[in-house]
Amino acid sequence: MAIDSHMHINHFILDNKEKYIDAINNNSRIESVINIGLNLQTSQESISIAQSNSKFYSSIGVHPLYIDSQNLEKLYGLADNPRVVALGESGLDNTKNNFNEQRKYLIRQIIIANELHLPVIIHSNNCNKQVIDIFKRYVKPKYGCVFHCFQPDLDDLKYLVSNGYYISFAGRITYKTAKKSIEVAKIVPNDLFLVETDSPYISPEPLRGTINETSNIKYILGKLAEIKEMSYIEIETMTTQNTKRLFKKLQ
Ligand SMILES: [Zn+2]
Repeated sequence: MAIDSHMHINHFILDNKEKYIDAINNNSRIESVINIGLNLQTSQESISIAQSNSKFYSSIGVHPLYIDSQNLEKLYGLADNPRVVALGESGLDNTKNNFNEQRKYLIRQIIIANELHLPVIIHSNNCNKQVIDIFKRYVKPKYGCVFHCFQPDLDDLKYLVSNGYYISFAGRITYKTAKKSIEVAKIVPNDLFLVETDSPYISPEPLRGTINETSNIKYILGKLAEIKEMSYIEIETMTTQNTKRLFKKLQ
């Protein structure tokens, strides 16, 4: 069974959240999902969904595009919960120019994760080098880390893999323009490989342009099986094992 390691079921743009929650609860091919918070409010909602739905786990954090005076100390207070498996998504995004703020939030969230022995989920939009620079100069995630929707770059990949950090692939890998991502997927070691939908965004082919949901993970797994020259079941089992190794609180 598959684990969707990064999705947003309580995202602002989804009106009928219950419908999407039920679809996951009733899907026998989905073992679990990690529902990612973007700010304090969505993190709190993510925990409450995880408390009443056994397939749902929660990651809590402040996304670089949702920083506006979010209280990180409150977030710290929420993290000591059996359903919270990670901190994030946190990171840097070059579509906004408040880089100093973004950097401060990222550093503080890595410190919180290290204190709580939790892995960190990194969002990097054209900022891999700057995130890696923070790891080198300030603080590194000590209990694991995943770069979600990894943007392909071989130098960055070398650094991440040599530190045992994970790389996650989403719907973009199914697009015709994904040549570089396919090259990266070929060389990511099999034990550092995760899969995610990042739903409701980035639907894979052949559903590109529609609202994405966790069941579409089958298209991403199918494409990765083709790239890695493995069977669908092999790639599904491998990514599920990897996800559980990184997020130790997943059962
Ligand atoms: Zn996300």
